[in-house]
Amino acid sequence: MKYYSTNHQAPMADLHKAVVKGLAEDRGLYMPEEIYRLPKAFFDDMPKMRFQDIAYNVASQFFGDDVDLDCLQDLVYDTLKFDCPVVKVKENIYSLELFHGPTLAFKDVGARFMARLLQYFLRQGSVGCDGNAPNGMVNVLVATSGDTGSAVANGFLGVEGIHVYVLYPKGKVSPIQECQFTTLGQNITAVEVDGVFDDCQRLVKTAFMDEELNRHMMLTSANSINVARFLPQAFYYFNACARLMQEMGDAANEIVMCVPSGNFGNICAALFGHAMGMPVKRFIAANNANDVFYNYLQTGRYEPKPSKQTLANAMDVGDPSNFARIIDLYSESGKLTAEETHQRITSLISGATYSDEKIKETMRKCYAETGYILDPHGACGYRALEEQLQPGEVGVFCETAHPAKFKEKVDEILGIDVEIPERLAAFMRGEKQSVAMPNDFEAFKKYLLEQ
Ligand SMILES: *Cc1c(COP(=O)(O)O)cnc(C)c1O
Repeated sequence: MKYYSTNHQAPMADLHKAVVKGLAEDRGLYMPEEIYRLPKAFFDDMPKMRFQDIAYNVASQFFGDDVDLDCLQDLVYDTLKFDCPVVKVKENIYSLELFHGPTLAFKDVGARFMARLLQYFLRQGSVGCDGNAPNGMVNVLVATSGDTGSAVANGFLGVEGIHVYVLYPKGKVSPIQECQFTTLGQNITAVEVDGVFDDCQRLVKTAFMDEELNRHMMLTSANSINVARFLPQAFYYFNACARLMQEMGDAANEIVMCVPSGNFGNICAALFGHAMGMPVKRFIAANNANDVFYNYLQTGRYEPKPSKQTLANAMDVGDPSNFARIIDLYSESGKLTAEETHQRITSLISGATYSDEKIKETMRKCYAETGYILDPHGACGYRALEEQLQPGEVGVFCETAHPAKFKEKVDEILGIDVEIPERLAAFMRGEKQSVAMPNDFEAFKKYLLEQ
């Protein structure tokens, strides 16, 4: 499979390059040249299939040309060691719980898949998926304000041939988040920068451009726009459809998939699934007060703005990166006009935007009526379904994080004491280890050169 850039000014890339580079030379996002529809026989069998086997079928459409199929199967099975169950919250509304991975967030799926795919490419030239020592080390640099760092660190934990440096702003991430990437050890190094998130990001970006550093070590990013991180997110949507079809039969004919969105990677993966024939009738993109996409749906104009801080902070995005992928997908790579594209998008996707007040109100109402504990991100999805679901439709919203990850907020809003899952408690008992770093590129470079 070849990958082209959404800006159309860069050469086509193969999968290896798209994964290692992340972003194309023209700063565009990589798109697969073909999106193959899965055969009818697959959809007929799907309700009887296991999550891992469904995912392998989906993965082979995208990665089957480039990755040995046995290795790809290993890779998918290794990524999906945890379940993403569909849980009934109330009549016709289901929660797709994406928080059963190591860091209790859906980003665990893409991070693990990307780690294993990078490892596969490293080992190529040796002997396949159980090959010998890798022929070089890859160093992943990631700047985090909290969530991405933990998912990437845990996804790459123990993956041979890859070392991860997580840069985070000292005193600016929550203790629960911090322990998820500072207590791991092995091939994960936490770098505690004396600065804010933007300083961490600047150190990482400067490192990627530094010639001496790049001669000394192979550097790559694990950014969420990477094709290896976003495409695997399609797996759990197919599985959700399968589980509903299994449970409800024909009543699952009109599934509405509702995705709480920030950078729009997660919903973009769902839309790729739809293009492969996934039986979903329509989609809802649920937003917090950051309403750029919502406004695009209403007006046809895309006007990025600075992000606003909200309760659902993993969705505080004012210029979603994957918007470019959605436009490219529905404009047939620029063949359709902006108006035609907008029309196609609005016929499939509707929007919603909620203030912090409405998020709180929704969490309280859902808890009182059903006993289900929503986190602030999932609350946007739940509410959008409550408001927009039509008779005969079955709604599924992604619960994108475990409520314990936002324990202080959730406890306060609901007046309860959310139980901390054992996985998270184990992180909190671990010993914190980090490298103190001044907010200075020369110091960071010197440190990396010594590794
Ligand atoms: C990353 C994240 C989101 C937003 O996902 P996008 O792919 O950026 O749209 C929503 N909720 C949680 C909890 C997240 O961590």
